[in-house]
Amino acid sequence: MAAFCLDFHARYQCRHSGACCESWTVPAEPAIVEIVSSRSIGRQGEAGPLFMKSADSRGEELWTVARDTRGECVFFDRSGGQLCVIHRDVGEEALPSACRHFPRRVLHDARGTLISLSHFCPTAAAMLLADGTPAIVDAHPPLRLECEMEGLDARDACPRCCDRGCCAMSPATRNGRRLAWRAWRGHSTHMAAVLTILRRSRRSFGNGDPGTIHCLTPSGRPSGRRSEMCRPRAVTAV
Ligand code: SF4
Repeated sequence: MAAFCLDFHARYQCRHSGACCESWTVPAEPAIVEIVSSRSIGRQGEAGPLFMKSADSRGEELWTVARDTRGECVFFDRSGGQLCVIHRDVGEEALPSACRHFPRRVLHDARGTLISLSHFCPTAAAMLLADGTPAIVDAHPPLRLECEMEGLDARDACPRCCDRGCCAMSPATRNGRRLAWRAWRGHSTHMAAVLTILRRSRRSFGNGDPGTIHCLTPSGRPSGRRSEMCRPRAVTAV
């Protein structure tokens, strides 16, 4: 299946910021628990459990990766280059699925597989502010995982992107779907333009103090107005 991403995400590769290993409770599949437990791997000096077990309402086993007294994942080797011990000693295929995918956000729909990134990840966030007008390009490894990527499966869905109700009125007709997809593509183009404006705005902030912040026109020129919307925190919150 074809896979796509935004051009500035295309070169994403983990740079071991550690942000995702510091505080989250990460689910682990039973097969992963078995593989990792059988290899006796772990952080040097770590004596506690590697995984925690609980059960869902139907009594089925649920596993999560254990956390240390600081709240960090027990496999996160902060003093050893901020590396994941599972990734380092066994390989990416032994990572819990959540770790293998993060910060990727995946949507499967009629166009193919669309891969975006969570900007909680500092490496991904830095890419957001690259120069240029965003474009949609083919996604390749390492952004595109070699395994089948997990994500939202909307292959049978029709985008509901306006209030005209074309999808609701004729969800099964080819014309209804064609109209909805055309509108959705227009929405994507619009959002790319918004991001371009935000990037230009940020560049103008970089050279001045908050007293010199101005709104930009859609073409990226200063409009002469000042606005809260244009403040840097609005940009970094994207
Ligand atoms: S298992 Fe590895 S990648 Fe996942 S949270 Fe722990 S250290 Fe990070």
